[in-house]
Amino acid sequence: MTPEPAPDLAALAAAVRTCTACPELAATRTQVVVGDVPAGARLLLMGEAPGATEDETGRPFVGRSGQLLDELLAEVGVARADVAVLNTIKCRPPGNRAPSRAESTRCRPWTERQLALAAPAVVVALGLSATRWFLGPTSLAAVRGTVHDARGLRVLPTYHPSAALRWGPDGEPRRLLRDDLALAASLAVGA
Ligand code: SF4
Repeated sequence: MTPEPAPDLAALAAAVRTCTACPELAATRTQVVVGDVPAGARLLLMGEAPGATEDETGRPFVGRSGQLLDELLAEVGVARADVAVLNTIKCRPPGNRAPSRAESTRCRPWTERQLALAAPAVVVALGLSATRWFLGPTSLAAVRGTVHDARGLRVLPTYHPSAALRWGPDGEPRRLLRDDLALAASLAVGA
């Protein structure tokens, strides 16, 4: 299914909520997690896919990863309410498996349209999957912490909060994720 070009974010959200282009995801999801795009948001965070808590609540990054993200944003002086948060695909893959290439391809037009309408100054790609969505095949080690031009956007790849949780509060991923969010916040203000 190719989405009609939505004229605004509200129309897009209404359309994506009815999408059944991925049969397995449409059959197993609780709801479509469209994403948060506050008016005027200059910073946008991009994850991979909704998890169980996101599927239940309909909002992106509200589970443990989301709580850490909120904490780190607060540490760098940014309110979550001012930040746009999306995932590359809008429906939870069963068992939190990785999205298939076909699912990612089907959802890409929705996400690209969201990015075009949101027009953020800076995008933070959280984790390898979101990073590759923008930059193509690469490793996080090769691109993390620097700004890349991709699809007309300034994209800063960094760790996914789940990596920071895995390595713990004193681990390098948490420190680098925090540093990268601080850099993104400063770029968003200055852009
Ligand atoms: S993941 Fe995207 S393309 Fe697939 S059913 Fe959900 S909204 Fe549609």
